[in-house]
Amino acid sequence: MKKCKCKHLIDDYLFDRLDEEKKKKFEEHYFNCPYCFEKMVERDELISLIKQKGDMIFQDEYVVEEEKGATWFEKIASFFTPKQWALIPVYTALLLIVVFIFFPYFKPAPPQFFISEDRVRGESITLISPVIDIKTVPSKFEWKESGEDVEYKIYIYDDGEKLWATTTKDNFIVLPEKVRKRMTLGEKYSWEVKAFSPEGTLIAISSKVHFKITKGE
Ligand SMILES: [Zn+2]
Repeated sequence: MKKCKCKHLIDDYLFDRLDEEKKKKFEEHYFNCPYCFEKMVERDELISLIKQKGDMIFQDEYVVEEEKGATWFEKIASFFTPKQWALIPVYTALLLIVVFIFFPYFKPAPPQFFISEDRVRGESITLISPVIDIKTVPSKFEWKESGEDVEYKIYIYDDGEKLWATTTKDNFIVLPEKVRKRMTLGEKYSWEVKAFSPEGTLIAISSKVHFKITKGE
């Protein structure tokens, strides 16, 4: 597969170092870029695995160092800020990736990653309603479920400008009255839904559907 020039953004995205706009741009990019998408799924899985096992790994290290009578661990501990500590699983993940790439003969038994069918690239979310012109201001937006334990982010646009966005674990949202009040007859609207894994990775996306609230006859 051809390497992508956006590859360096993967880590920035996973560690939430991008501002909202860059994040959104990159989400759109990697969802359509087979190279970045594959790398993203790999890293996301690896990082969450290491986060889960992180406590255990550091526990072991601590015990070993203590036996030697060294204060290595304490020195390092005071050297890093809590925020940097939080990144240690991340560095561990990157180190592992490097080990995987450069030392194929010494690589440990590969961890078993479970990538469910929900995570295959290019899955799209089917929007159910509203998808055609309607005569009243909608009160509910509905789409097809993308699997279990998925968080959806819904964006509603008024003529291209973002009107409202929210997140839910259901496959529908009921529009709050204050948002409905901002929608008027004769206006054009559009909406889209994105699905995120529990780790926060984008896994599916809907197309942007347009509808108009027509003036009744
Ligand atoms: Zn790419």
